[in-house]
Amino acid sequence: MENIIFRRTKDLENWRDDQKNDINFIPTMGNLHNGHIKLISTAKSSNQNINLISIFINPLQFENKADFANYPKSIDKDINLAFSNGADVIFIPNQIDIYPKNDKNLIYQKASKELSESLCGIHRQGHFDGVCTVVYRLLDLVKPKNLYLGEKDWQQLLIIKNLVEVNKLGINIKSIPTQRDYDGIPFSSRNNLLSKSERRHMRLFSNELYLAKETFKKEKKVNLKQLTKKIESKNIFIEYLEHLQPFNFKKATLKHNISILAGAIRCGETRLIDHVFLMKRKPIIAIDGPAGSGKSTVTKLIAKKLNLLYLDTGAMYRALSWFFKEENINYEQENHLDKILSNISIVFKSSSISGQDVFINNNCVTEEIRSQEITSIVSKISAIKEVRHYLVNEQRKIGELGGLVAEGRDIGTTVFPDAELKIFLTASINERAKRRQSEYKSKESKEIEFDKLKELIRKRDFEDSNREISPLTKANDAVELISDGYSINEVVEKIIDIYDQKIPKEIQIQ
Ligand code: AMP
Repeated sequence: MENIIFRRTKDLENWRDDQKNDINFIPTMGNLHNGHIKLISTAKSSNQNINLISIFINPLQFENKADFANYPKSIDKDINLAFSNGADVIFIPNQIDIYPKNDKNLIYQKASKELSESLCGIHRQGHFDGVCTVVYRLLDLVKPKNLYLGEKDWQQLLIIKNLVEVNKLGINIKSIPTQRDYDGIPFSSRNNLLSKSERRHMRLFSNELYLAKETFKKEKKVNLKQLTKKIESKNIFIEYLEHLQPFNFKKATLKHNISILAGAIRCGETRLIDHVFLMKRKPIIAIDGPAGSGKSTVTKLIAKKLNLLYLDTGAMYRALSWFFKEENINYEQENHLDKILSNISIVFKSSSISGQDVFINNNCVTEEIRSQEITSIVSKISAIKEVRHYLVNEQRKIGELGGLVAEGRDIGTTVFPDAELKIFLTASINERAKRRQSEYKSKESKEIEFDKLKELIRKRDFEDSNREISPLTKANDAVELISDGYSINEVVEKIIDIYDQKIPKEIQIQ
């Protein structure tokens, strides 16, 4: 598509009315740097949509007149940079078009009270209302499908998400991690206003946040008072430095796995912000659901796409069932199961053929545990108290560091009740029977009667849902997905979408 620049809202609107393709929208205030460029190129590489960037310095979000007057501008350079990095259209409106006098259609927006009562919201009165007003106006003009924003402005990102949600605009919001310069400070247009010594202060500040993040990984705590004192001892003027929960900005406590350490400092006349996310362990995704809902295929793909460990708890129960059968252990009457279990080791190893092999006491049982014989005993075995106790413990050990996606029946309720994302994946009995039937056909080259399959699934559901210990139940905070009529890839995309909404990109790449 040929590069287009619009300067009048009317021209943009006329063009917009003729467009059949969806639009990716990247709003900016110009003076483009690598943060903006990453937004433009990420949007470009994500889909075939038209990439539209706006450049507009919004007076409403400046509570300080001098800051507005001094905001760096480099429009010719911006145009070249934007087009050469994937922009198709650049919208450079003037103030009078965005805020026409006496326009009854202009709606002044209020930022969410809950989200703007902390951090920058306290220190920049009216700032987020100004941001919401201009973003709402621009969204109304551009009518994009996707809106791309930087996590560098984390509070702004949440406030805009809330604006889009409250007004039911139906726009997808995608974020990118904070882009940092060679010395660790976030790219920001205002960096151009810094003297050498002011930049050094910002570098020291960003570096202290980084060190706090690294220390937190080992010690699982942050001493805010000590950190503030340390930063101030370097003659850095802190406007605020807070340790908060990342999605509601309430105080973080030790029980929160993910928190944000966010601050603003003054470097001469310039005010700059930075933050890091603190994590006790990496994120965990728990996927539960009945047999045949597509859990294992979906989970495997998610693990691959998000580069997470795949914890196949079902395979652990199956491996144990295989072992009991192989060793002729009468698991229903055995009084010494604890002792037997204490001598068992189950490990997963990645394999280029199966993706992942499961070993029990050094026997590779990946294939054998999928047989009909094992399928018919595994539910009974997984209802044994000692077995569950042993395997839940093993699973928690594997999950101590996080960074995994686990599937089973009780992952979100029992094994990892504090998982960041819980999915309850299900499908109708008919749909599951259809899937199992084609699985049998391709794997065992055998036909199996449809009604018989349905009966087996019904029985398995009943056993799983009614056993005394850890029955199959949906966790209160789980998202239920019914996979009837959806392809595996659609389910995977849906789950990754939910994950992206819950887990900052900055955390995903750590
Ligand atoms: P601005 O021009 O400062 O209003 O920023 C426009 C967009 O770029 C916003 O979504 C910002 O969050 C994003 N952005 C600015 N700086 C960075 C950065 N260093 N890393 C990632 N995104 C950024």
